Amino acid sequence: MSQSFSGGDNPFDFDHRYQNPFYTEDHHAWRATLRRFIEKEILPFANEWDEAGEFPRELYKKAAAIGLIGMGYPEEYGGTPVSDGFFGIITSEEMARIGAGGINASLLVHGIGLPPILAIGSKPLQQRVAPQVLSGDKIHALAITEPSGGSDVANIQTRAVLEGDCYRVNGSKMFITGGVRADFFTVAVRTGGSGKGGISLLLMERDFPGFTRTPLKKQGWWASDTAALYFDDVKVPRENLIGEENQGFKGIMHNFNSERLGMASGANAYARVCLEDSLAWARERHTFGKRLADHQVIRHKFAEMARKINATQAYLEQCAMRVHAGETPVADLSLLKVQATLTMEFCAREAMQILGGAGYMRGCRVERIYREVRVNAIGGGSEEIMRDLVTRQMGI
Ligand SMILES: Cc1cc2nc3c(=O)[nH]c(=O)nc-3n(C[C@H](O)[C@H](O)[C@H](O)COP(=O)(O)OP(=O)(O)OC[C@H]3O[C@@H](n4cnc5c(N)ncnc54)[C@H](O)[C@@H]3O)c2cc1C
Repeated sequence: MSQSFSGGDNPFDFDHRYQNPFYTEDHHAWRATLRRFIEKEILPFANEWDEAGEFPRELYKKAAAIGLIGMGYPEEYGGTPVSDGFFGIITSEEMARIGAGGINASLLVHGIGLPPILAIGSKPLQQRVAPQVLSGDKIHALAITEPSGGSDVANIQTRAVLEGDCYRVNGSKMFITGGVRADFFTVAVRTGGSGKGGISLLLMERDFPGFTRTPLKKQGWWASDTAALYFDDVKVPRENLIGEENQGFKGIMHNFNSERLGMASGANAYARVCLEDSLAWARERHTFGKRLADHQVIRHKFAEMARKINATQAYLEQCAMRVHAGETPVADLSLLKVQATLTMEFCAREAMQILGGAGYMRGCRVERIYREVRVNAIGGGSEEIMRDLVTRQMGI
């Protein structure tokens, strides 16, 4: 368990991971199960699905059947609780090997949609929604961002007014992952006055009259169904209120912490895929009479990539342990997300350089990952907002 680099030439080999001495047989078994599933059901089709802009809906059911959708969720709703935060990191690493983040983002979108219901929602709401989502029958998205902005969450404009037994909702949401196909949406709305004290969360359902969606085209994550959502006098039953009225902001912030941990984990895993694919290439490719990997300039690129990835991994694993133990290390999660997305950005750039023209061609994992750097650096709290949050936590 002490070695850090033992990998071979196979680009799908994942042995370049810095080893974690606390992994048990359960962790290795989960990695093996997930890897088998991905290699059979996803990897052969990843590029085709990305080019097509969607993947088959039946993948949700298949992913649920092997425990991917329910991983980390309560048993009573069909999930599989985990004993620590490392399972999530393993999941991110294996999913990153697909090298098409849009599949990951939409397939696991319930990871941001469902937790607020489990954290602050009523028992009847949990019982109605969670089993259908964890079985892969229903897709659950999260809708916070609006056309007027996503960073300033306390300032959202979508309005919900209670009239009898229903909230009447008007407004719109922007850039919503899973927004085209989702059945359930956890939506942030303004039920009170200005600022964070006037925000509530509502469960919106796809068939509610007045609720429409349009798909959005984007730089990366092509296989993900990102959408704009429009609410035109949509009536949402009062029992679909998630938690208490005007207490939604806390639910949103709590959710951001796990989302940021997940995004950091994914970003570092994509960085490692870049290292591995470019290393496999540099070992085979010859220029000026020797292997690309024998040129010192290129060798140093690998050392730098590994240095950043391993440092990020150590921070990530420590944060994951703390979050699993019930802590809320807001400042560390913010720093971690910046660290991870900068690592991904660096490794995507270096890997592209090493691959040369081949890396610029469609169908190449590094090419797809390169296009997906910015969504990681912006989504779920941008690098600027993360740094701002850190300095506030530091009392500066
Ligand atoms: C592909 C994709 C999928 C997404 N999926 C979802 C989803 O499922 N659900 C959801 O709710 N949202 C989703 N988002 C939205 C995402 O979370 C937002 O894009 C993000 O929070 C930033 O908001 P914004 O784009 O409105 O930028 P803005 O808030 O308008 O900010 C624009 C730029 O200004 C910077 N900035 C803003 N304020 C400050 C400041 N005070 N100081 C310094 N710089 C500042 C930001 O960092 C950013 O770089 C998704 C976005 C993308 C691209």
